[in-house]
Amino acid sequence: MPPLPKSTDGSNPMRWVFDSCSDCDTCRFLMDESCLMFPELFRLYDQSCENRRQPNEDALRRLAELCTFCGLCPCPDIRTGILKDKAVSVRQNGLTIGARLLSDVQRIGLLCGLAPPPLLRLLRKDPIEKAFKSRIGIDPKRRLPPIPTRHFFSWAKRKGLDRPVVDRSPKVAYFAGCTAGYFFPEIAIAAVGVLERNGIAVHVPEQQCCGMPLLLEGDQETALDRMRFNLNVLVGLVREGYTPVCSCPTCGYALKVLLQQGACYSEGYQRHIQAETGEIRIPDRQSGKPGFVSLKKSMYENLLIDDGLFSGLDPIGRMELAARVQDVGEYLLGRMPENAPAPASTGMPHRRMVYFAPCHQREQEIGSPYETLLARIPSLSVQRVGSAMDCCGMGGSLGFKQGFSERSLALGERLFAKIRKAAPDAIVTDCISCRLQFEHALPYPVFHPLQVLAMAMGQRGSFAS
Ligand code: SF4
Ligand code: SF4
Repeated sequence: MPPLPKSTDGSNPMRWVFDSCSDCDTCRFLMDESCLMFPELFRLYDQSCENRRQPNEDALRRLAELCTFCGLCPCPDIRTGILKDKAVSVRQNGLTIGARLLSDVQRIGLLCGLAPPPLLRLLRKDPIEKAFKSRIGIDPKRRLPPIPTRHFFSWAKRKGLDRPVVDRSPKVAYFAGCTAGYFFPEIAIAAVGVLERNGIAVHVPEQQCCGMPLLLEGDQETALDRMRFNLNVLVGLVREGYTPVCSCPTCGYALKVLLQQGACYSEGYQRHIQAETGEIRIPDRQSGKPGFVSLKKSMYENLLIDDGLFSGLDPIGRMELAARVQDVGEYLLGRMPENAPAPASTGMPHRRMVYFAPCHQREQEIGSPYETLLARIPSLSVQRVGSAMDCCGMGGSLGFKQGFSERSLALGERLFAKIRKAAPDAIVTDCISCRLQFEHALPYPVFHPLQVLAMAMGQRGSFAS
């Protein structure tokens, strides 16, 4: 089949994605079972070659909507291109009310926290919930997450965790994220309990959404505002000796991986590390040791540019935060000697569990700290499930959407089959999106690994503690 002539429209990010990937062809086979976007991209490409016409704008827009930003495909630039395309679309056409509500977890969480409990109970009544789902484009078969009457941030305030830690070390600044903060407070409470029981002082700073759900829907402006706020707060705390920690792998991915993309190429950062006039210095990530690799500026200055999603934010702060932020599991494992006493394993009704490492945890390249920590609990067997190419298919809140829910479940089916085969007492995963998908598709209870560690330590994950 002769190749399709290239488009000349360089201002359309999705057309650039389409041209680049169809030229390359690697993901035609690599991603055919792990992603909804690539099979459609190559179907469109084959079709376009036959009729000798580039796909139209609508087809490209629908193509972008199929990306759940799982991070499994090889090229970060392609993923950024897809998010940029969604942002262009939102700038041109605005957001639908459904997309606005589904992407703004922080705002929904705050509103739910303000609503009186009888009103929340009324909203969950069948006909009202049905009408609500239909109005904002949620698939009628999807169960909405529980709405707790109190959120984690008010609990943390009551415990005095909003106040800075004085004269204690080690100390962490806990970034709970919106989903645990507002909808699954038991996870955030478990995180605080496990950290404190290990002698770590916890501060819960003022925080906003990490921006990922907003970016996925194309609301780049709001995402940037919220990330700017978080960056200022967290970098300030890093400079005061705190280690920022996250229990949500998507927040961790945003703060550690996405935020710093391209930052080291910026003029500000190059000046900060005192690069010579004719060189671009980049952190040496290959050797695993601190230091820089020097590249000839005249050869690379047009390629190595700070033009990612967060290029409008302070590059020095982005690099500083990315280097310091850790997942809670990674942080705990790093502080616990191998022969540290194991938790007591009291109050553990579930004995045989499977652990699924979510996509955004794998993308942080921190190994699998929770597997190691859970393996230390006596009388608990935790078996890893899912390969590096397995995805639950949920894609943040995308799996809730009408028209996407069935495809999202189909994408996760390969993983569900592996879990069914293992027939565990419970599933453990650190991602709340995966949790919601598993709870929808499978009959097993689902826990965050920090909840399991907290249970093993005999801690109650409730507002009563
Ligand atoms: S994502 Fe990268 S490797 Fe995959 S087809 Fe596109 S350009 Fe090629
Ligand atoms: S990030 Fe995930 S869903 Fe998006 S294109 Fe890559 S593999 Fe597909």
